[in-house]
Amino acid sequence: MPDEPSGAPERRVLLAAPRGYCAGVDRAVITVEKALDLYGPPIYVRKQIVHNKHVVATLEKRGAVFVDSTEDVPEGETVIFSAHGVSPAVHEEARALQLKTIDATCPLVTKVHREAVRFANDDVDILLIGHDGHEEVEGTAGEAPSHITLVQSPEEVDAVQVRDPERVVWLSQTTLSVDETMETVRRLREKFPALQDPPSDDICYATQNRQVAVKQMAAECDLVIVVGSTNSSNSVRLVEVAVEHGARDGHLVDYADEIDEAWLDGVSTVGVTSGASVPELLVREVLEWLDARGYGDVALVTAAEESLMFSLPREIRRDLKARDGVEAAKVKHDPGAIS
Ligand code: SF4
Repeated sequence: MPDEPSGAPERRVLLAAPRGYCAGVDRAVITVEKALDLYGPPIYVRKQIVHNKHVVATLEKRGAVFVDSTEDVPEGETVIFSAHGVSPAVHEEARALQLKTIDATCPLVTKVHREAVRFANDDVDILLIGHDGHEEVEGTAGEAPSHITLVQSPEEVDAVQVRDPERVVWLSQTTLSVDETMETVRRLREKFPALQDPPSDDICYATQNRQVAVKQMAAECDLVIVVGSTNSSNSVRLVEVAVEHGARDGHLVDYADEIDEAWLDGVSTVGVTSGASVPELLVREVLEWLDARGYGDVALVTAAEESLMFSLPREIRRDLKARDGVEAAKVKHDPGAIS
């Protein structure tokens, strides 16, 4: 950072746009809220509905019960599947337990599931770029376990084996680093020149836009604060992208009170953004925290405009319509609240 001629350095915040809630998270959170409203608590949710500590805690207070497995749901109860998607085996388990299911899988994750099924039906080997153990990867891999090989990083490409190098396609988790994924694809294509691309981008618009915005501001930032939870893939990627593109320092926080004052030592410009599962009120609290320390000058860095919205799962629309009429079945969007 250049030396200031006198006194404290100029202090400012660059605020990324877009940031925070994507259409899939918005839909999933509203699904739980509407289910609580329609059917009353408890409403069971398999896994965290979205990977955000605050959202999960808030919904728990309203009566949502988060469980690890459908087997933890009492027979005949309602269970919501999270935005990350589930494998066909999970749907089968729920049927066997006679659970009422509401599927809040993001439609952009469902799109990847359909691609996996289609390529497996054509007997093509699928190289799924993603992180082992992530719920989305478990769900997608479960669509075609005998055809899918997981590739976690460019370094893993050397070890990848396929049955026929002429019949191979890559797909990916929706929330990866675009740059790292493209490097993995480049190496895969060196090894398998006939490698097919997915029919359309698997890394979703929200992940891409949030990364582009961070790249635009990173080089000007001494510090980038990403609001998000440690189990949120797209939030963790934002910290990595910020540092890779020139930010001197980067940290992930769930809440403003997790910011360490020491991070601000010698800092002139702070970049702020948030992952796709983060309600805007948590960003506002970070901005207030920074304002109280002299970082009240906030400039927006806009990489894209977003207007995508998804309709709610059909069970919720049906029951809202039956109760309140057609208009009530439409999604109401308030990115400042938790939904
Ligand atoms: Fe859907 Fe992308 Fe949001 Fe995931 S991050 S819920 S894939 S829009």
